[in-house]
Amino acid sequence: MTDAPPDAPVPQQVAAWMARAERVTVLTGAGCSTDSGIPDFRGPQGVWTRNPAAPALFTIDAYVSDPQVRITAWQERSRHSAWTATPNEAHRALAALQDAGRLRALVTQNIDGLHQAAGSRDVVELHGTLWWARCLACGERIPMREALDRVAAGEADPPCRACGGILKSDTVSFGQSLDPDVLAAAARAAADCDLFLAIGTSLQVHPAAGLCDVALRRGARLVIVNAESTPYDVHADAVLRAPIGIAVPALVAAALATT
Ligand code: NAD
Repeated sequence: MTDAPPDAPVPQQVAAWMARAERVTVLTGAGCSTDSGIPDFRGPQGVWTRNPAAPALFTIDAYVSDPQVRITAWQERSRHSAWTATPNEAHRALAALQDAGRLRALVTQNIDGLHQAAGSRDVVELHGTLWWARCLACGERIPMREALDRVAAGEADPPCRACGGILKSDTVSFGQSLDPDVLAAAARAAADCDLFLAIGTSLQVHPAAGLCDVALRRGARLVIVNAESTPYDVHADAVLRAPIGIAVPALVAAALATT
């Protein structure tokens, strides 16, 4: 295992793997967007680290059964940092890796749309997107902007206009299943890569974290970039304990040096 000190360049061995890799599958988590001003959940400044009671509000049961939880959720969505955030160096580097034809797939647990804003295409959004709202009853999907305009106009908990059902951001809450097609696409990408790069994720949430197992079983190298330890560090070929804004552009530069 390689532990790079915080501002070290990518270790030579990892740079060599990046240079040789033809199909890199990337899994990103909330840590990829902290440099854009969106807090993660479990990092030192994470939403849940600072407020351990918060996860209970993120369950689908609480959302469906408690109107006050929905009202709070709409208020939080209205002031979410994603609306003003812009992509950072790591988002841009991953878009460049795709432009160079070296990316098998970009799978993200993030819901903020910043990979797409940086120019990444066909992003596999495992946990959905904050940019759309969906009715829990009839499945009607509307742009989040439309729902938030209704909240701003005084509807504290706007119902679905098609059927009157409960509207929620089109994201996966605890207790909700992932879209099987999206999960299958992510599993195919993990199974069909020579290098699997996990960036800014605590790898504690399944099935997302299990994509590392899929990649390892199929013989891919696993490289983890994360400030804190993860349950998969012991299985990884390398762990870069480095700031994502430095390590990810350096990894991509190593890959592109041979393109
Ligand atoms: P997590 O909060 O569990 O873990 C993030 C990890 O990133 C932490 O271990 C932290 O130490 C590390 N990290 C943060 N900033 C870093 C940096 N600049 N350099 C290096 N490491 C850094 O996040 P997760 O594993 O993605 O799971 C959280 C869940 O919450 C996801 O399912 C996601 O859907 C959701 N979420 C999304 C966003 C977003 O869309 N930006 C933000 C918060 C939570």
